[in-house]
Amino acid sequence: MQNFLRRAWAEIHLDRLSDNLTALKTLINENKTQLACVVKANAYGHDDGNIAPFLEASGVRFFAVSNIKEAENLRKNGVTGEILILGHTPPEYAAELSRLDIIQAAVSPEYAERLSEIALSSGVRVKIHMAVDTGMGRIGICAADENAADRIANTAKLEGIILDGLFTHYAVADSLDESDIEYTDNQTEMFFDLCERVREKGTALRHTHCLNSAGGAFRADERSTLVRFGIMLYGLTPDRGLTLPVKLSPVMDLKAAVSYVKPVKKGTFISYGRTYCAERDIIAATIPIGYADGYSRSLSGKAYVLINGRKAPVIGRICMDQLMADVTDIPDVREGTEVTLIGKDGSEVITADDLAQLSGTIGYEVVCGISKRIPRVIFRGNEISDIVEYY
Ligand SMILES: *Cc1c(COP(=O)(O)O)cnc(C)c1O
Repeated sequence: MQNFLRRAWAEIHLDRLSDNLTALKTLINENKTQLACVVKANAYGHDDGNIAPFLEASGVRFFAVSNIKEAENLRKNGVTGEILILGHTPPEYAAELSRLDIIQAAVSPEYAERLSEIALSSGVRVKIHMAVDTGMGRIGICAADENAADRIANTAKLEGIILDGLFTHYAVADSLDESDIEYTDNQTEMFFDLCERVREKGTALRHTHCLNSAGGAFRADERSTLVRFGIMLYGLTPDRGLTLPVKLSPVMDLKAAVSYVKPVKKGTFISYGRTYCAERDIIAATIPIGYADGYSRSLSGKAYVLINGRKAPVIGRICMDQLMADVTDIPDVREGTEVTLIGKDGSEVITADDLAQLSGTIGYEVVCGISKRIPRVIFRGNEISDIVEYY
C-alpha cells in the first residue's frame, strides 16, 4: 500500500476533519457568524496544502494564517476564499498583499499608515482588519484609549488601505474560572463597545470578530461576524480542563515502524544519560522517531506508545531520531511492526493532548511541532488521497 518512507509518518484523516467541521457549525448561528478556519503553521502541522482546499470544497470561504508565505501557499494550492493574515507582514509587502488579495491584520494605526503609504506608492489598496487590544496585551490599538474610536475612524480614511473590519483576541476564553469568565466578558464588551463608537462616527465595518475555538464553543456571541476556529477543527481541546459541547476526533495520528527488537538483560542501561536501567530481563524495541521529528525529549521516561493494541512505556532518554520502548509483555513485536505514538490501536488511545499533559505543554505545541521530516499521509476514509513529503 505505502510508497512513502515507512519509518515514521503522520496520518491526516480528512473524514474526521469533515465531522469536526459539521460539529463546529452546530455551535454558531451561521446567519450571523461566518466560519473562518485557522490554518496557520501548516494547518497546525496537518498540511495546509491539503487541509485548506478540502475545507474550501466543504464550503469554507474564510481562512486565517500567520504570515504572507502561508497565505501565498494557500493561493498556490488553489484557495480562492478570503485570507486574513493574523501575524506580521512588513508594510513593504503591500503590493504583494494586494496581488494575492489578502487581508492584513494591522497591529496599530501607525502600521496602517505605513502600509497605506507604501500601497499608494505601488498604486494599490490593501484590505486590513485593525487589531484591538482588550486584554491580551499582544497587538492592537488599546480599546481603553479614549481616542481609540477617532483613531480607527481616521485610519479608515487612509487612501492606500480599506478598513474591512476590527478584531480582538481572548486571553482566557478557555478557562471556566469565575474571574477568567469575567475577564473575557469584559474583553467582549470593551470590543463591541468600541465597534459601536467607530460606527457612530460613520465608519462602516464589514467584520467585527472576537471568537477563537474556546470562544466559539462557550460564548458564540452573534455580534462576532467571524469565528476563528483553530485547534478544535483539528479535534483537540483548547484546554484539558474543558468538557467540550461537541464531540471531536483528532485528525492526526502519528505512526512509526519498529526498527529493531532485542532481549535486554536485567541491569542493562538504555540510552543517553543512563537514566534507565532494566530491573528485570526485558524485550526492548527501538522505534525510529525522535525529538527531531517533534516527539519531544521531555517525554523521556513518561510517555508510552501503542503496539498491537497494548501500551509500551518509553524507556530511557528519547534521542534525536530514535527511542526505545519496553515491549516485554506484548506478543509479536518484530522489525516493521506498526507503532502508534498518537492515535488509537485496538481499545487503547493516546492523543496529542495526552502527550502535552505528560510533557507539560498544550496539544497545540505537540501537533505544530511534528517536523517536516515526517511525511503527511492524507486519508479520505481508508484510501490514501495524497502523500506529502517535505524532503
Ligand atoms: C491562532 C489564533 C486563533 C485560533 O485559536 P484556537 O485556539 O486554535 O482556535 C484565533 N485567533 C487568533 C488571532 C489567533 O492567533
